[in-house]
Amino acid sequence: MPEAVVALGANLGDPVRALSEAAEELHAVPGITVKALSRFYTTSPVDSSGPDYVNAVALVETSLTPMELLKACQRIENEHGRIRPAGVVNAPRTLDLDVISYEGVEQDDPVLTLPHPRMHERLFVLVPISDVCPSYVLSGGETVTEAVARVRKTHPDQQIRLLRQESVA
Ligand code: AMP
Repeated sequence: MPEAVVALGANLGDPVRALSEAAEELHAVPGITVKALSRFYTTSPVDSSGPDYVNAVALVETSLTPMELLKACQRIENEHGRIRPAGVVNAPRTLDLDVISYEGVEQDDPVLTLPHPRMHERLFVLVPISDVCPSYVLSGGETVTEAVARVRKTHPDQQIRLLRQESVA
């Protein structure tokens, strides 16, 4: 079965709880198995505003198509009360789920771009991926470890801190 990476983020309400629940809810979807959940990180908003985010990624195995996986993610987001204010890009959110990559699929569709077009530049995606899949290779051929080192150099403004594990119960 294909493997996919789903990024989880939240910066409103109780983000740790929202991410923990979302991982369980993903696992409960028929056709999705969460094989690994990364550690949780806090990050300053990138291209966004409001309180710091909590971010993680889930490595999943799925019999769903990429679009079905996106729909499942959006249903879970909606159940967590996410509102998309008209015209507001990257508004603060109680839960954001992005499909980062889906094994063997590259597509430029605006409804679902794969791999996620900004994953290469975001430590809050790359660092958790290196937790669950240290051998991960980005579409350009770079390893996730190399990508983390590159972004730390080119974007020293991106702050990412490991959240204390006790709070991720
Ligand atoms: P956001 O508000 O950041 O969650 O963006 C969601 C919008 O981006 C939706 O309209 C999706 O159809 C679109 N989108 C395109 N590619 C992706 C992707 N890889 N993962 C999640 N949403 C995507």
